[in-house]
Amino acid sequence: MAYSYEAPVSQTLFDRASLVTPGGVNSPVRAFQAVGGTPRFMVSGTGPYLTDADGREYVDLVCSWGPMILGHAHPDVTAAVQAAVARGTSFGTPGEGEVALGEEIVARIEPVEQVRLVSSGTEATMSAIRLARGFTGRAKVVKFAGCYHGHVDALLAAAGSGVATFGLPDTPGVTGAQAGDTIVLPYNDLEAVRAAFAAQPGEIACVITEASPGNMGVVPPLDGFNAGLKEICAADGALYISDEVMTGFRTSKAGWYGIDGVRPDLMTFGKVMGGGFPAAAFGGRADVMAHLAPAGPVYQAGTLSGNPVATAAGLAQLRLLDDAAYAKVDAVSAELRSLVGDAFTKEGVAHTVSAASNMFSVFFTDGPVRNYEDAKKQEAFRFTAFFHSMLEQGVYLPPSAFESWFVSTAHDERALERIAAALPAAARAASEATA
Ligand SMILES: *Cc1c(COP(=O)(O)O)cnc(C)c1O
Repeated sequence: MAYSYEAPVSQTLFDRASLVTPGGVNSPVRAFQAVGGTPRFMVSGTGPYLTDADGREYVDLVCSWGPMILGHAHPDVTAAVQAAVARGTSFGTPGEGEVALGEEIVARIEPVEQVRLVSSGTEATMSAIRLARGFTGRAKVVKFAGCYHGHVDALLAAAGSGVATFGLPDTPGVTGAQAGDTIVLPYNDLEAVRAAFAAQPGEIACVITEASPGNMGVVPPLDGFNAGLKEICAADGALYISDEVMTGFRTSKAGWYGIDGVRPDLMTFGKVMGGGFPAAAFGGRADVMAHLAPAGPVYQAGTLSGNPVATAAGLAQLRLLDDAAYAKVDAVSAELRSLVGDAFTKEGVAHTVSAASNMFSVFFTDGPVRNYEDAKKQEAFRFTAFFHSMLEQGVYLPPSAFESWFVSTAHDERALERIAAALPAAARAASEATA
């Protein structure tokens, strides 16, 4: 596919990057492989806008894959970070900032009685799985096809996100032993979960699920799905782990738990809670968390865990996320979903705008999309044409048809007008696209 616009400075940077790092990026989806073209190297962000190395400005609908829920360079978050940096950036000792962030999480999310801070969502899910296995003395883990829980070896089976984008069934480097205790089931299918538990009673340590999946595109749980998981787990003595790395502190003040009220045994967090810095967490039942070192025997640690700059950023961001902030993000999302849906309808493009609170994505199919198999039936080639038209017109979408779009409190009328102005031509490009 040829593009009518160029990004020479980004291209030069990408060439340099490709010499020193595999594929030129430090996280696969950034490389634009699913959509083609030159990945944009961003140099600055303010509010809902990003500016690339060629000096072009974009309305940002990625928001760093979720974290930037207040927009870029929010003055209060920036001030908190600057103040923290000036006091020193890492001590390798306990500090007050991590206590305050832990208290904020516990106060917001009722099932989290105790919490442990880590540096990435991957670490959070990896540690939660280890803890679940240590607590139950069982080996097996149930996960769902299309759900992504970071690049934990045992969870890189039928995972979403970059793995969905590239259609890899699995990844080399994960051994049979590492993935052998992982049971992958279709999402939104309680019968499959019941059957798995019936086939191996007392062997499953935990079920881990995205609270509402956003890594195969947005595919919310059907009514009763999460509650059913909880019930099946409880009946067998397995733990129910809700991965809220994406939904936590984004979909409501208490994340997806604040929406469906299903009480997990353990939960994982990341993205929004770090305020744009590497901070993540896992937490839940106090009797389970008591098994973690040094209180208990299950080992888990981190040189930069609870880092003072990251916790200052996260705390500053969370303190600004009140009911009004979530109402704003929800309203922006609703308006954008209706603009996008109307644009495709007008051009006669088969589509499903799938939303979970303020997270949403577009599937190029009439739907319904209830699981990863459904999601893969979409005409992803239409997304490629749509993506490049939007990019050319100054709107930065996730460079894959299998990722959630994210908005922030900073997306104002001007930003929405720019998106609205870009949509007709992009929807036309989608309708004219050929496989
Ligand atoms: C992003 C994500 C992760 C991994 O978090 P990282 O910080 O990228 O390691 C895990 N689970 C879910 C649901 C995610 O969206």
